[in-house]
Amino acid sequence: MTIQHLLQYDREHVWHPYTSTIDPLPVYAVAGAEGVEIVLKDGRRLIDGMSSWWAAVHGYNHPVLNKAAEEQLKKMSHVMFGGLTHEPAVELAEKLLGILPRELQKIFFADSGSVAVEVAMKMAIQYWQSRGEAGKHAFATIRSGYHGDTWHAMSVCDPVTGMHGIFAGSLPVQYFIPQPAVKFGEEWQEEAMEPLRNLLEEKGGEIAALILEPVVQGAGGMYFYSPTFLVRARELCRQYDVLLIFDEIATGFGRTGKLFAWEHAGVVPDIMCIGKALTGGYLTLSATLTTGEVADTICSGDAGCFMHGPTFMANPLACAIGSASVSLLLESGWKEKVTKIENQLKEELAPAREIDGVKEVRVLGAIGVIEMEEPVDMATLQERFVAEGIWVRPFGKLVYLMPPFVIGKEQLSRLTNGLLKCIRK
Ligand code: PMP
Repeated sequence: MTIQHLLQYDREHVWHPYTSTIDPLPVYAVAGAEGVEIVLKDGRRLIDGMSSWWAAVHGYNHPVLNKAAEEQLKKMSHVMFGGLTHEPAVELAEKLLGILPRELQKIFFADSGSVAVEVAMKMAIQYWQSRGEAGKHAFATIRSGYHGDTWHAMSVCDPVTGMHGIFAGSLPVQYFIPQPAVKFGEEWQEEAMEPLRNLLEEKGGEIAALILEPVVQGAGGMYFYSPTFLVRARELCRQYDVLLIFDEIATGFGRTGKLFAWEHAGVVPDIMCIGKALTGGYLTLSATLTTGEVADTICSGDAGCFMHGPTFMANPLACAIGSASVSLLLESGWKEKVTKIENQLKEELAPAREIDGVKEVRVLGAIGVIEMEEPVDMATLQERFVAEGIWVRPFGKLVYLMPPFVIGKEQLSRLTNGLLKCIRK
């Protein structure tokens, strides 16, 4: 297929995320991807600064993950999970339970991050129903969060920066408190808990669960907050009988400098969602984990089971790749790699603080964020990045890097230098 035909047909018929069909933002045709490079159809090679939205932690076209996929393909790519089970699912479950808090003993495989969030929210509702508390049907969360694009996940996204506003009339109304006031690394202030305490004091009887992205808020604002917030939130949730859900879909698998972000605080939630880097960016797969107590309470209710069962639940191909990806991560010296990336990002993004229009620069783990005073012109900036040979996708006021962990020092310098050069213009 010629590039011209591909791009023209795409422009006329194929929807892309968050862009208009009337005047779509440009897209770039990709022929392949290898290591930390995305290879465009016109031959240009771009160093990837996005890990395909937090997912491709090992880079692209990885021989170990390719092999896992090929071997599984020869056996079966899919069978239904109702009444059947298989080694890829059980092996992956065992590996995940081994690296997640030991209290979380029951795992539900789902199709995508958003669905994992829906599953978590449904679990919370069924849990309280089983306990005879059907009045606990609402959710609490913090501002600037992001939990996905499906209906209830959307209801707990930030009402302003998320797409919530447009659907306001149709979405359930949830309880929002301000973003935790104490940033990561700042001295803890106890007053930061007042909004949550007041909310739970007043509305705890209606609230099924508090849902949070632990420590790092991703797509809703790329904000890093104090882990002590989680410690206090855990205490308050216990006090007011509210379940605690951690959405680790973006933060999981090493990205924040810990294997999972709950470890920054040592706080175990009642329910946890994981996804994105679970398959190293190869296929869509997510999981929602919970305690034996929550699972058994759900199943002791009138329904007798948890009411969810997607067609592609625990897809063997995705599970086999996930299993290979988790092992690869654990064996790859991920922590050292992430620390190196963190140090280099801190050093090389620091000069951005002097650039006109830059509000703040922040780095945590393998995440580097430049927050601008004003929203950026995505199309212009994207074109400049591509001309510099780097792949960076800003949104709103945020220009950020979250490269694959396998990135080399020079490749990362090309990313940071290219980024600074483009925003300087
Ligand atoms: N939760 C968080 C924290 C996310 O960052 C995302 C995706 N950006 C989701 C949920 C939704 O995941 P998916 O896009 O796979 O549905």
